[in-house]
Amino acid sequence: MGRLPDQMLMLHGLLVYGCKLLFASPSCTPWGNNSRGWEKTKLQKERATETPTLQFLAVMCLLQVIIGGSYMIENPKNSDIYKDSPLALLEHESLPSEKTVLDQCAYGASMDGGLIRKSTEMRSDGPMTELNRSCSGEHEHVHLRGTNKRGSRTAQAAVYPDELCQTIVDKTVKRVSTTQSGGENKHQCHKAENKKVDFGRSSNGTSERVESACATSRTVGGLGSHSYTVVAAARA
Ligand SMILES: [Zn+2]
Repeated sequence: MGRLPDQMLMLHGLLVYGCKLLFASPSCTPWGNNSRGWEKTKLQKERATETPTLQFLAVMCLLQVIIGGSYMIENPKNSDIYKDSPLALLEHESLPSEKTVLDQCAYGASMDGGLIRKSTEMRSDGPMTELNRSCSGEHEHVHLRGTNKRGSRTAQAAVYPDELCQTIVDKTVKRVSTTQSGGENKHQCHKAENKKVDFGRSSNGTSERVESACATSRTVGGLGSHSYTVVAAARA
């Protein structure tokens, strides 16, 4: 996601073809619990390396909300990515940002013959209550330290359990599709209006929304002139 050609491709796909649910799982290494023990200079350097990618992701989420879709970002529970990276701007700019916490053992995540807890925090434009499952507390957990015969346990745990994937497809995508089709309401815009963002109140509101997107894109920064060209094209 950090390479400009890939970013242009994703922007093109989002704006031209669209998607119901934009799902992203950015690298958690510089933002998770382990990173808090790093030396300060290393921590700042590693987080700075991820910043351009997360600036792009923040703008993608913003665009997705503006055009009526939903987004979901996945990282470990209590990750600093939501408060110390460009993704924090989604909330600071008063855009819809809801928190959902789940334990992956509740979805059958396992390794080396036992369940792994892997507490996970999702941020999305609306509540994802259908994903909110916690550990039952009735089992032991395999700890994600060190290696096994397949290598790093942490790296292997990056693969989501099938049941979690299926729940997102069966319930989350279905729910946001219903909402986006106008059934219940356009919760993104209602929520934004209830907060501080003014998406405009003209007959269609489109130009104001795009202006808002451009303004926030500038606040997020770092995308370069190519991406602003795409945003401008969306206005036409
Ligand atoms: Zn558990």
